[in-house]
Amino acid sequence: MRIDIMTLFPEMFEPVIATSIIGRARAAGKIDIRCHHIRDYTLDKHGRTDDTPYGGGKGMLMQADPIYNCYQSILLQLGGKKPHVIYMTPAGSLLRQKRAVELSRLENICILCGHYEGVDQRILDEIVDEEISIGDYVLTGGELPALVLADCISRLCDGVLAEDICWQEESHSEGLLEYPHYTKPFSWNGREVPEVLISGHHANIDKWRREKSLEKTRRVRPDLLETAPLEESDREYLHKLEEEGQ
Ligand code: SAM
Repeated sequence: MRIDIMTLFPEMFEPVIATSIIGRARAAGKIDIRCHHIRDYTLDKHGRTDDTPYGGGKGMLMQADPIYNCYQSILLQLGGKKPHVIYMTPAGSLLRQKRAVELSRLENICILCGHYEGVDQRILDEIVDEEISIGDYVLTGGELPALVLADCISRLCDGVLAEDICWQEESHSEGLLEYPHYTKPFSWNGREVPEVLISGHHANIDKWRREKSLEKTRRVRPDLLETAPLEESDREYLHKLEEEGQ
């Protein structure tokens, strides 16, 4: 998978994409993430890439032309193969794990980061396939959202994590939130690891984890239970919690 990122602030990316799991995956050639400085593609002699909005209003808008030239250069690098182009915006559809899994199966993704008040609508109409938001709040720019999306997609690509099971059992992968984890020491600050986890009884451990997962989801994100694929035993456990008034 190759991810091309169009931004006015490429320096924000390198420290993150060169670090830890994503850094190792890039070094091993499992994923290819490249940043492109939109300012390199402006024809304005002062290097301008933004202007005031038509119709008035506060703030500046990124102009279509530098972004379009940047995109054309990426297309050339890809041998004319059109990538799936995503614009990061608080006005997009909310990023969810299910969509991230689908995106991780694509060969080429190109992410556009907005800044200031956003970008000229015409460049969105011209090149963008999908608009994604990372949450119902507004940030100063699309760089952090692009990093969130690139990280989320990258770890789902083949060979990036040690095993696929690492992400298949996590929160949101199966519609529920994850159960709690514990590591050594057994006793810490007067708090002990639940006995079942040292019992060696795998069926009991699985049952305990499933119940904790259901409890957490019910407490923190009850909305997820409406669409999560639940077994009869899950429903019975939720009913029991209800009856106990937990
Ligand atoms: N005027 C825009 C609006 O009301 O929708 C907000 C612009 S915001 C200040 C500047 C840029 O940050 C946006 O163009 C977008 O690229 C990025 N951005 C801000 N919040 C975001 C979010 N929650 N998800 C994705 N991108 C976001």
